[in-house]
Amino acid sequence: MKLYLPILLSFISGYGTYAAQPVIIVHGGAGDISESRVQGKLDGVKAAVLAGQKILAAGGSALDAVEAAVMSMEKDENFNAGYGSVLNVEGEVVMDASIMSGKDLNLGAVTLVKDFLHPISIAHKVLTDSPHTFIGGEGVKLFALEKGFDTVPPESLVTESAKKALEDFLQNRELGKTETGNHDEGGVGTVGAVAVDADGHVAAATSTGGMTGKAVGRIGDSPLVGSGTYADDNVGGVSTTGHGESIMKYCLAHSIIKLMEDGQDAETATRNAVTGMTSRLNNTAGVITLSKDGDVGIHFSSKRMAWAYIKNNQVFYGIDQDQVLEEPLLAT
Ligand code: ASP
Repeated sequence: MKLYLPILLSFISGYGTYAAQPVIIVHGGAGDISESRVQGKLDGVKAAVLAGQKILAAGGSALDAVEAAVMSMEKDENFNAGYGSVLNVEGEVVMDASIMSGKDLNLGAVTLVKDFLHPISIAHKVLTDSPHTFIGGEGVKLFALEKGFDTVPPESLVTESAKKALEDFLQNRELGKTETGNHDEGGVGTVGAVAVDADGHVAAATSTGGMTGKAVGRIGDSPLVGSGTYADDNVGGVSTTGHGESIMKYCLAHSIIKLMEDGQDAETATRNAVTGMTSRLNNTAGVITLSKDGDVGIHFSSKRMAWAYIKNNQVFYGIDQDQVLEEPLLAT
């Protein structure tokens, strides 16, 4: 897929500095997404990219923009994050999230999160308000309560389709499938966002419920720096989705950063790393990348991945291989 987003520089008269045009891109999860889920996902990624764009257009930071975009998908049942998360083998929602600032490589990550609608906001709080970078399990709850987050009843995060996906998984497992989970209709898709703000700062964020039927205590790639998420102002930012066990073995997000550091453009680096992981480990993944200059990379070795970004007042989006749809960005 050839997608370039040339950065536009505008001169701010009187100050003698240049401000880059902000850019934001989102994904709504890679997988074998069924036809019946396509429209909901496309609507959801467009809503999410607009939520992030609004913040950037008002002069907000890349970090706040990626958080807002991810929050939009965490509350949307079309995605495997927050409300709509897939269920572990015991029927529980247990979530992972991470967010990274390219300015100072600061990071906030949370794992084994229950009882909260927006794990990404707790991860952001870890980034800003904790001496640590990664908090898990009961500690997340203690930290979040201390910082004023409200809990939600765990069952309020569970959707009918997540229950159905677990039933299907349990039946298939009896037929010989094990804990690898699935990425089909039930695996409704991890979410992520990457942005470059007007000050040239890069941020990336990823949030997920993981895999249907995952073991109790299983942690995926999404909260792991360098696997699910990476951002560096000197290079760019990445958010990944797909088979978590493979993504973490391949350090997929940082592999792309490394290829870009070595001179590959965002699109080439993204394609090379995703195809490299899939041929080495025989599992699929999807990635969104922005270079520090706002060039876009989108690639997925799964059947589908919903994505959207905004360029020159146009919203670009798609879900099938080689599909690029566009429509004007309407003033809100
Ligand atoms: N990567 C996620 C995980 O393994 C799942 C996904 O992206 O669909 O937890």
